[in-house]
Amino acid sequence: MKRKNLWAPWRIGYIQGLADKSECFICRDVKNPQDDNDNLVLWRSKNCITVLNRFPYNNGHLLIAPVRHIADFEQANDEELLEMMKLTRSAQKALSLSIKPHGFNIGVNFGRCAGAGLPEHMHIHVVPRWKGDTNFVRTCSDAYLISQSLEELLELLKQTSSTNELPAL
Ligand SMILES: [Zn+2]
Repeated sequence: MKRKNLWAPWRIGYIQGLADKSECFICRDVKNPQDDNDNLVLWRSKNCITVLNRFPYNNGHLLIAPVRHIADFEQANDEELLEMMKLTRSAQKALSLSIKPHGFNIGVNFGRCAGAGLPEHMHIHVVPRWKGDTNFVRTCSDAYLISQSLEELLELLKQTSSTNELPAL
């Protein structure tokens, strides 16, 4: 069978981002609250920041990271660990209420060999899943179909957060 290519031009931003080692995007987000909307920041809390992934595996893909530039759980203190877990719970709730996923993948990649795009600053991935979302496009081509704009989704999640006593900016 002849191999065919599917265009995914938005991937170039991700690939070029990997090459640019000068800036950690989570630290950039932490330091620039005036750009929270552009950076897709959903929540700020004492020790953590929660953002929408600009290169999502699925609609609603959130990243929860400690404010400190640390690589893994070993370097996190108890307060940070607890806050990350509580935010993971809040993220599940906000996504469930907003976009009604059927399930979730929640996890962390440590090290580039394990798939971490930003190995030096740890972050928990919260990825909503729906029955049938692993379709042939995803399975055969490493391409993703995302049906809602990130800006629209950010607004929806903020509204859901404010009406359900979830974290805020
Ligand atoms: Zn960082």
